[in-house]
Amino acid sequence: MSNSLFPWQDGVWQQLQQMRARLPHAILFHGAEGIGKTVFAELFAQSLLCEQPQADGHACGVCASCGWFMQYNHPDYRRVRPEILDGEDASDGDEGGEAGDGKKTAKAAKAPSKEIKIDQIRALSGFMNISTHRQGQRVVLLYPAEALNTAASNALLKTLEEPPPNTVFLLSSNSLDRLLPTILSRCRKFAMPLPSREQAMAWLRQQDVKDADVWLAEQGGAPLTAYAQSQSEGRELIDEFLLHLTKPGIDGALKCAEHLQKTPVAELVGWQQRWLYDLFSFKLCGTIRYYPRYEKALAGLAAKVETGALLRALKSSNERRAIAEHPLSARLFIEEMLLDYAAMFA
Ligand SMILES: [Zn+2]
Repeated sequence: MSNSLFPWQDGVWQQLQQMRARLPHAILFHGAEGIGKTVFAELFAQSLLCEQPQADGHACGVCASCGWFMQYNHPDYRRVRPEILDGEDASDGDEGGEAGDGKKTAKAAKAPSKEIKIDQIRALSGFMNISTHRQGQRVVLLYPAEALNTAASNALLKTLEEPPPNTVFLLSSNSLDRLLPTILSRCRKFAMPLPSREQAMAWLRQQDVKDADVWLAEQGGAPLTAYAQSQSEGRELIDEFLLHLTKPGIDGALKCAEHLQKTPVAELVGWQQRWLYDLFSFKLCGTIRYYPRYEKALAGLAAKVETGALLRALKSSNERRAIAEHPLSARLFIEEMLLDYAAMFA
């Protein structure tokens, strides 16, 4: 999506340059989903490999190394990510770009994996054992780090414990609490900022997004996910789902589950999580973060529900999120989630 930093990343880029003199073996970029972490890490990787980086640390964009990098065939660079991201446009990574059309047929045959698997980590050892091109550095970019399954995490940990010479690992993560503490302790953490509302709005307007403020609020201020949502066909689904949440009830829950069973369950859980958060926030301090459009409904519901019940609902929503990628039956999963929700108001 982008060959340059996002407007809100200039300051943090300068901060990162201070690490260059004594570069750690592994840097973990972390922050909210949809703020451009992967693009940022990728630009940093390119600049580390560039033969003539500019004074501000940016890659030159014209040397042979930059040429290979931009075509994804630099001999000293490896990108490790779940198979499911392979169909996406090269530089958007976890940040939700448009799906490319190149791999659609392969995808149809077998559902692409959402995990980073041990074979992908093992495949790095060959790469790390050969000498680098022109005695430079070797860079591995891995994202999102929370996609590492347990076996892959452990394999990566071994590598990070005995880092190969001249090799830099760049990891990117949306949720540090889903990473092994041992991996965390081997990486230098680097926090990536959420843009200010003005910066995010300006960027979304540049992309010609209509109702940018609505999308941005729903995505908690993350402009790239706001952009992706605005381009998806999911608007009607979100509205249908939220409309149901405004009128909790058993019949509605069953109907809604039947109707939305093809929607990715993790997304539904995410929408409901935000909704519950808004209810909670409104009850406690009268503010709404994600769904200001629904203020009236949220206010009415907040008056009917107990704070303790909301806290429990938020907790079980977190637990659901953890298993939402692989529900045994999407429909039953959604039904249960919505019936639990309705019970809070009974
Ligand atoms: Zn260059």
